[in-house]
Amino acid sequence: GPRVLLEPSQRRDAEALLDGIDTVIFDCDGVLWTGSKLIKNAPEALRVLRARGKRLRFVTNNSSKSRAAYVEKFRSLGIQADASEVVASSYAAAAYLSSLGFASTGKRALLLGPVGVEEELEAAGVPFVTGRGLGLPTYDSPDAMLRMELDESIGCVVVGWDPHFNYSSVVYASACLRELPGCFLVATNTDDFDHIGRGRTMPGTGCIVAAVETASGVKAINVGKGGPWLFPFLVESLGLSPSRTAVVGDRLDTDVAMAREGGMLAVLPLTGVATLDEALAAPPHRSPDAIVPSVAALAGLD
Ligand code: PLP
Ligand code: CA
Repeated sequence: GPRVLLEPSQRRDAEALLDGIDTVIFDCDGVLWTGSKLIKNAPEALRVLRARGKRLRFVTNNSSKSRAAYVEKFRSLGIQADASEVVASSYAAAAYLSSLGFASTGKRALLLGPVGVEEELEAAGVPFVTGRGLGLPTYDSPDAMLRMELDESIGCVVVGWDPHFNYSSVVYASACLRELPGCFLVATNTDDFDHIGRGRTMPGTGCIVAAVETASGVKAINVGKGGPWLFPFLVESLGLSPSRTAVVGDRLDTDVAMAREGGMLAVLPLTGVATLDEALAAPPHRSPDAIVPSVAALAGLD
C-alpha cells in the first residue's frame, strides 16, 4: 500500500520522495489550485523544486484553455511556467489528430468543445468546424432529424468541455458517427466531475462524452490522462525517463493510473478529488506510492 506521510514529523520523508527524480509532472486543478484559488505555498514549492534542478511539467485534463492561455493563468497566480512545459488536453487532442495525419485526409473535425481546443487545432493546422459554425438548428422531432443534412467533410468528432453542449449537439454528432464513413470519436478526457469549492462539484467532460457514445454506439479514444494515448506521447514529446519521473496528481483514475501504467512514481496530495480512504482502498493499478498533505510538502513547506 501507499506510504502515508501526513504528519509534521514525516515532512523530511515527504521531501525525500523526489530524491532520484529529475522530472515532476504536476496535475493542475486540485494540486496547484482549486478553481481560481491557489493551494497554499504551491508557487513557493514549485520555485524550490526548480532551484533543486527538477524539470517541471504541467499536464491537465482541462481542455478549456490552450497552452498559451494556461501560461497566462499561471502568471496571474504567481507561477512561472513556459508554454513548452504545459500539456493541456486541448493540445493533446490537436497533437493526436496530427499524429494520425488527419489534416492530409482532406476531412474536418466537428468540435464540440471550448475555445482552448479551437486555438490548439488552429495552431496544429487541423481543419475543424464547430456546432456554432455549422449553424445547427434545434433538432426537436424525428421529422427535424430526418431533414438534417450531414456535412460530408466531417471525418471525426472531438468532444471537450463544452458548456453550450445540448441535445441537438448529440443528434448531429451521433448521426455523423453512425453515417459518415470512417468517422471516429475523440475525447479530450473522460473526467466524471471536479470539486469547485463550497462542497459543490462540476460535471466533467466525461458526462458529455458518455452522451455522444451512448447515442452513436461509438467508443471515444480518450487522449487525456486516464486514456491509452497520453503516456507514450509524453515519453516521446517530453523525453521522459519513467523511473526518474514523478506524477503529482489528485485523481486515482487519471493521474495515479497514468503513473502506474508508465512505471512512474505516483504521489497523491489530499487537496483535490481523492480522499485518504479512497486512496487506501484503491486497487493496485490505481494505488499511489505516497500520500502527502499537499504539493507544498514535497518542498518541505506546510
Ligand atoms: N476539465 C475541466 C473543464 C475542468 O474545469 C477541470 C478542472 O478545473 C479539469 C478538466 C481537470 O483538470 P486537471 O487535470 O488539471 O485536474
Ligand atoms: Ca486534478
